[in-house]
Amino acid sequence: MVVYGCPCETSTDPNDRLGTSVGDALLSSFSQRISHLLFGDDVLARVGGDEFVLLLHHGVDEDFFEKLLASIRQPLMVDGQSIHLTASLGVTRYPNDHVQGDVLLRHANQAMYRAKQRGRDTFHLFDPNHDRLLQVRHEQRQRFIDALNHNELCLYYQPQVDMRSGKVVGVEALIRWQHPEEGLLAPGQFLPIIDTTPLEVSLGEWVIERALCQLTEWHAQGIALPINVNISPTHLLVSSFSQRLAELLACHPDVPPSMLKLEVLESAAMHDVQAALHNMSLCQALGVSFAIDDFGTGFSSLTHLRQLPVNLIKIDQSFVRDMLSDQDDMAIVESVIYMANRFRRPMLAEGVETLEHAKALMALGCELAQGYGIARPMPAEALPAWLADWPMRADWNSLAQPAC
Ligand code: C2E
Ligand code: MG
Ligand code: MG
Repeated sequence: MVVYGCPCETSTDPNDRLGTSVGDALLSSFSQRISHLLFGDDVLARVGGDEFVLLLHHGVDEDFFEKLLASIRQPLMVDGQSIHLTASLGVTRYPNDHVQGDVLLRHANQAMYRAKQRGRDTFHLFDPNHDRLLQVRHEQRQRFIDALNHNELCLYYQPQVDMRSGKVVGVEALIRWQHPEEGLLAPGQFLPIIDTTPLEVSLGEWVIERALCQLTEWHAQGIALPINVNISPTHLLVSSFSQRLAELLACHPDVPPSMLKLEVLESAAMHDVQAALHNMSLCQALGVSFAIDDFGTGFSSLTHLRQLPVNLIKIDQSFVRDMLSDQDDMAIVESVIYMANRFRRPMLAEGVETLEHAKALMALGCELAQGYGIARPMPAEALPAWLADWPMRADWNSLAQPAC
């Protein structure tokens, strides 16, 4: 077992206050006191100015560290002066932490810094499993950065339609990772790796930039469809969000800002609603509008609906999927549609997989839809052919007849 300890005087560095000779005497008394708690083959070494390492060859439990800390806490008399010390201890256990000696020392040292962070005068046990997880996460994030820099990410687009008029009203951009070994990865397979890290901002900017390039390309091809981009709460809360957005828009002068729409999750992660509201209103001033995504799954839908300046409410697909067979889900869909109407906000149903879903939604007053029944997300190159084919879809065309 390796214990990395860092004693310090409760007020100041003793060398500064008392002079180096008293400092030396203090270190010597300190070492003697610790030595009394050790067994014959244990080792106490001083490895830095005020850092000690203990190598314990016998198993000890947590009481031992409490005893060690209590002993260090006892005032030391040096040169007629009473000096109070406390220590931060980092501990790692071999063979549980099955690594080479130098790495064992590093792990104990890491644990000592955790003890310091936790307020000193305490000990922290190194957890090899947690450390391995952190290591894997670190490698995954590095791999994601490579993917971002080497164009392995791409956007798929899923059409959104007005079922009443039959018109395609826009597309949602959905991120994909074309992984060289693992194939095409869906966001659920890699977004958790970057959750709440600054990489969410890098990805978000990449997605906005890519969507604006796509809008420019479509503009040149005569396709005028707004793109909805998903924005993570971490990204939306960055203070310079709207400023960066304005810069990105300025690089694409052919794209009217109204062609870009941002989807924000109604989620608990939106912890700072005031900051979100502020950024959203700055973006709206630029001409960019907002949709609230996965509506109904968040923690306080009504508050959000009252406060957030959203231009579209997206009913979460989990309610839509089972609405025909589950009365509770039907009740939720009905309520969301009712609420959206009362707040005079347009709404769109996600996850519309069948014509039956579409008919039921229209009967309830929801006319905008997106889902596998209409189209699966597709690469940009596939969209022109889908757009040409869509008006020929007799099943969906029948919905588009004007109501009698
Ligand atoms: P979302 O924004 O709610 O997107 C809708 C998800 O539902 C997409 O999954 C889409 O492929 C899927 N979907 C659409 N229609 C149907 C349907 O009829 N049935 C079923 N079962 N699923 C349907 P996808 O592409 O896997 O994306 C999952 C989530 O990942 C998105 O949910 C969004 O929250 C997030 N996401 C996707 N792209 C981005 C991005 O560029 N940035 C950020 N921050 N998040 C993204
Ligand atoms: Mg979305
Ligand atoms: Mg959604």
